[in-house]
Amino acid sequence: MTKDWKTRTQLVHEGSRRSQYGEMAEAIFLTQGFVYPSAEAAEARFLKAGEDEFIYARYGNPTTRMFEERIAALEGTEDAFATASGMAAVSGALMSVVRAGDQVVSSRALFGSCLYVLEEVLGKFGVHVTFVDGADLNQWRAAVTPGTKAVFFESMSNPTLELVDIRAVSEIAHAAGAIVICDNVFATPIFSRAVEQGADVVVYSSTKHIDGQGRALGGVVCGSREFVRKTLEPYMKHTGGSMSPFTAWLHLNGLATLDLRCRAMADTALQVARALEAHPKVTRVIYPGLPGHPQHTLAMAQMGSGGTLVTFEVKGGKEAAFRFLDALEIAKISNNLGDARTIATHPATTTHQRLPQNQKDALGITPGLIRLSLGLEDAGDLIADLTGALSAA
Ligand SMILES: *Cc1c(COP(=O)(O)O)cnc(C)c1O
Repeated sequence: MTKDWKTRTQLVHEGSRRSQYGEMAEAIFLTQGFVYPSAEAAEARFLKAGEDEFIYARYGNPTTRMFEERIAALEGTEDAFATASGMAAVSGALMSVVRAGDQVVSSRALFGSCLYVLEEVLGKFGVHVTFVDGADLNQWRAAVTPGTKAVFFESMSNPTLELVDIRAVSEIAHAAGAIVICDNVFATPIFSRAVEQGADVVVYSSTKHIDGQGRALGGVVCGSREFVRKTLEPYMKHTGGSMSPFTAWLHLNGLATLDLRCRAMADTALQVARALEAHPKVTRVIYPGLPGHPQHTLAMAQMGSGGTLVTFEVKGGKEAAFRFLDALEIAKISNNLGDARTIATHPATTTHQRLPQNQKDALGITPGLIRLSLGLEDAGDLIADLTGALSAA
């Protein structure tokens, strides 16, 4: 559609397709397949499907296509492919690119399932994966060689919110001829400028901020038309990780309010970070939006925001952290993020429970650490809930 639309206009209208009924809201095409007017038409469509022509929902569907076009416009890529979950997006982006004998360089601080795909799945098929400390450019320089096929990182790590310098790492990767795949979930598509900063492929779990209400698993891979349709799509459509039309409909509606929600959550995150910093029961606050954060300048240049999550450490270790969690009234104990409801997570005993102690230590996952995903509640109510629970800790 039009290239001049600003983000909020794109998020409401981009990619809309209306049937002959002229429905206002996006239709859910809950259909596995499509009927051809003639045998000749079927043959022609299998030879080359046009813009508004579909063959099978695993290959594409009008509702899913609306979601793909809307998110591609937002991210600033030529195209996108919607997937059944964030992990289908991550594994598809990686698996469609590599072959046995290739080398991949990745940051070490990864979502557990991303680590499994890189270590176990790629490893099993003969791909060599080198892990580096994502914030240390010298380690990237040393690990990326002319034989490197792809570079992978989460632009903001979980749970300690460490940033990878997308521009600098992309320059290192491109000089070696490697493709840059960026998992941008924590940065959100609203604060992302990853493509402008050099990433070739940007991956989201749309389960998080895009859904925004904790309803459905989904994911999306954004990139050039060449990459999405020639490299990724054949892999995805034949291996089966496509998004369901119902999820696409939910996540399309999530996109309409995404800008408003992410900005409101980030405003609250900054207020909460400041309140926690001032609290005597808190020993450390990690929020890249705070001027004292070691990567504050990078966060502002890369995202223009500190994001929607705040991580902090409660004085008194695991016992105090559990007392804090159990005393919360508004914030929920869970492990999703980007939800309208504020969510508090204790990484050491949940999301990162299985990591060996030395890796927990290396990633800064201490017994008192809490990760907060700020929701859409009133910031004052949330601060009262959090500080009240801290007193109980
Ligand atoms: C949640 C998440 C994923 C996986 O997404 P699912 O939708 O749960 O499959 C991948 N990467 C990051 C950074 C995530 O937070």
